[in-house]
Amino acid sequence: MPPEDVMEKVVNLCKRRGFIFPSAEIYGGFRSTYDYGPLGVLMLRNVKGQWWRSMVQLRDDVVGIDAAILSSPRIWEASGHLATFTDPLVDCRRCKERWRADEIGDTCPNCGSHDLTEARAFNLMFKTFVGPVEDDASAAYLRPETAQGMFVNFLNVLQTSRKRPPFGIAQIGKSFRNEITPGNFVFRTREFEQMELEFFVPPDEGPKWLDYWCTERLNWYRDLGIAEDKLRLRAHSPEELSHYSKGTYDVEFAFPWGWGELEGIANRTDYDLNAHSVQSGQRLEYFDQGSGERYVPHVIEPAAGATRAMMAFLLAAYDEDVVSGEKRTVLRLDQRLAPYQVAVLPLSRNESLRPLAREVLHLLQPHWMCDYDETQAIGRRYRRQDEIGTPWCVTVDFDSLEDRAVTIRERDSTEQVRVAVGALVDELGSRLS
Ligand code: ATP
Repeated sequence: MPPEDVMEKVVNLCKRRGFIFPSAEIYGGFRSTYDYGPLGVLMLRNVKGQWWRSMVQLRDDVVGIDAAILSSPRIWEASGHLATFTDPLVDCRRCKERWRADEIGDTCPNCGSHDLTEARAFNLMFKTFVGPVEDDASAAYLRPETAQGMFVNFLNVLQTSRKRPPFGIAQIGKSFRNEITPGNFVFRTREFEQMELEFFVPPDEGPKWLDYWCTERLNWYRDLGIAEDKLRLRAHSPEELSHYSKGTYDVEFAFPWGWGELEGIANRTDYDLNAHSVQSGQRLEYFDQGSGERYVPHVIEPAAGATRAMMAFLLAAYDEDVVSGEKRTVLRLDQRLAPYQVAVLPLSRNESLRPLAREVLHLLQPHWMCDYDETQAIGRRYRRQDEIGTPWCVTVDFDSLEDRAVTIRERDSTEQVRVAVGALVDELGSRLS
């Protein structure tokens, strides 16, 4: 399938099946913002849940926080965002479109004119005002990254969690950037979700932990089902490196238009903690009571986008095949990411099937996210579940009323097996683990 087709099909499927809707659609949409529908919210929660599980739950050297989105200008002054978090903006004098200068060269992609303004620095942060007066003293910013929340809480976390380097602080949450050219569906939006870890290490251990996190993070995407040949790790060239970075790698995915960043993994050194120490007057450092040693930790930061990762998982999972001579669309999502793990489907709408079907549903609901659907022919309902990536369908038929057994059907192979209702939770549990 040509890559452009996959993109169009996935965007279409997202809208049609309730993963992602254009925001404010009844008003004609609103500037590249998107709303996550009934299936999208489930999948996005699963993406974030898997990140949290691997980064926090399964480790004893990482703790989480959830910092405020509305944030003090002093944070962004210290971090350098107020001065330098900019993109070069140019206007086309003929059609009035605006572009990122580094993306277009000397020709307007809209009308082909070469009559462009000089590039000027455009700050990407959303500014707002806290309280009733709109003056400089009440200015605040919507955070453009979650990372600074970890740096400004470094001492709070150190003092309350009894952790010592190497240790990390993790956070998932919304970030906002006034991108000049959002696009490619939810790849680049002005409101998006990030999943970031700041991992604080003794200064001489930075390079070692940078390698460690590159491997870990690449494996996370692989483990959740993205094929080897669609992922790569790319080192930033010296010209590309941020001024504070002593080494950055991007985890990239083969998007339909080419390689694109899923996640940046950077050695930010002691830049951020030092900057906030200077700005706040507080010493953001680690003091080892045993050895009497005092130092400012270096920081390794794996910074991923949750919404962008969800899009990559959808693109990687999209497939079309033929089952018993009939074409079908199937999302081969890892079961941990699929919106529903199980769909309970009575064979028909016949009233007599409903009590047992509802009983089976209630049996499974405490364990997995379940869909329940009794309208249309069973074949069409299987196709609907294949199309949204549900790994297992459980069918209640007329024999079930006699033998208290049901049919379970697997999404990828479409194989069916008969299982006693009493053994269903264990059976699905072993297949879904
Ligand atoms: P880009 O170069 O694509 O603008 P970036 O290098 O500025 O991204 P980071 O600041 O490293 O991105 O942010 C970490 C991650 O957050 C990115 O890898 C991406 O997954 C996600 N992200 C950043 N900006 C956006 C956006 N506008 N929309 C969706 N996700 C984003």
